Amino acid sequence: MARQGWPASLFRAAGTLRESVFPPRPCPTAPGLQYRFSKKARRSQVADLLEVTEAGLYCAAGDFYIDPWRRVPRAIITHAHADHARSGCDRYLCAAPGKLILRTRIGGGSPIDALRYGESLLINGVRVSLASAGHVLGSAQVRVEHKGIVWVVSGDYKTAPDPTCHPFEQLEADVFVTESTFGLPIYRWPHPDGIAAEINQWWRANQAAGRTSVLLAYALGKAQRLAAMVDPSIGPIVAHGAVMKLVRAYRDSGVRLPSIDGVPPGARKVGNGRALVIAPPSVAAGRWLRLFGEVSVGVASGWMTLRGVRRRRGCDQGFIVSDHADFPALLQVIEATRAKRVLVTHGATAALARLLCERGLDAAVLPTHFTGEGPPDASPEVEEAEENAATSDAKSAAGPSDAAP
Ligand SMILES: [Zn+2]
Ligand SMILES: [Zn+2]
Repeated sequence: MARQGWPASLFRAAGTLRESVFPPRPCPTAPGLQYRFSKKARRSQVADLLEVTEAGLYCAAGDFYIDPWRRVPRAIITHAHADHARSGCDRYLCAAPGKLILRTRIGGGSPIDALRYGESLLINGVRVSLASAGHVLGSAQVRVEHKGIVWVVSGDYKTAPDPTCHPFEQLEADVFVTESTFGLPIYRWPHPDGIAAEINQWWRANQAAGRTSVLLAYALGKAQRLAAMVDPSIGPIVAHGAVMKLVRAYRDSGVRLPSIDGVPPGARKVGNGRALVIAPPSVAAGRWLRLFGEVSVGVASGWMTLRGVRRRRGCDQGFIVSDHADFPALLQVIEATRAKRVLVTHGATAALARLLCERGLDAAVLPTHFTGEGPPDASPEVEEAEENAATSDAKSAAGPSDAAP
């Protein structure tokens, strides 16, 4: 495919590739922390298989992008969250279990090719395969192999069990591009079974008090996972329109979920104080919650580890459940890749890169536009959920099928 007309490498144009592909720079999440490359690290950056360009992470040998943040001719997508999957590319490639979800998110038009996990494809002589990232349904790590060198781009990943998606598959690589949304030692997740028990208990207690339980979570992945985690015999499960749209995509992709109802037009006191309502975080600020009478609001997020965030979100209950790896899992996965070189994106990048350097790895921050589960108060994922919710709010009287754009 012709590359003319598409932006050349930002950094290559700016200077020599060796000096500038991953320039040392302050990490936005930890100002003042700078990582400097060793001489060896600088040498190893010559002729990289993947590089950061204006349009995203680019493989020149194969002429394709991974999770580009601009419109490009050929995009390989790790998963359908907003910071990784943007509409308007000419052609997409994703893991087969996530194809329907990607279509739901980017809309019609551009063709989407799908690869089964483990299946490989030659693109201009570069071998590409996808392995499960365990993050949301269809999430993939992208393995790129060329001239005996293997890069793996993790996208977002988790190793914790999730009944709604394939388990994380451990790969080995020469260079591993890892997320680090929760790359600080304070982030350690309790087992999901314990969290499920906590949510069930909270739901029962609210029922006893005649209150509806509203659980706020991302519409893609987390909401479906929570529905599958809780005990559906306690009462009805009701979901916001933005969630319902993806519940349907999950079901059509073959994932079994308990019975979940949308909010009927003109409804009042939905669930009569007995229901568990799953909705995106932004509904907390709107009038939508008034449909349910008296409510107790819970938030399900890895950020619930932070007391300040719990307080600022003004929720009654925080549940620590994340679709990202916690700190110990990040280190475990990175070590198991046996990669000598690790490039860190998302979140606590500088801190994790520095720690990996101290452990003898050639690690650096890879500047990208990815945001992981989103910083505590604003991120594309949160903004998108808000957008969905705003549209849903306006249309809620028209029925759940119209609820999300
Ligand atoms: Zn994600
Ligand atoms: Zn992400």
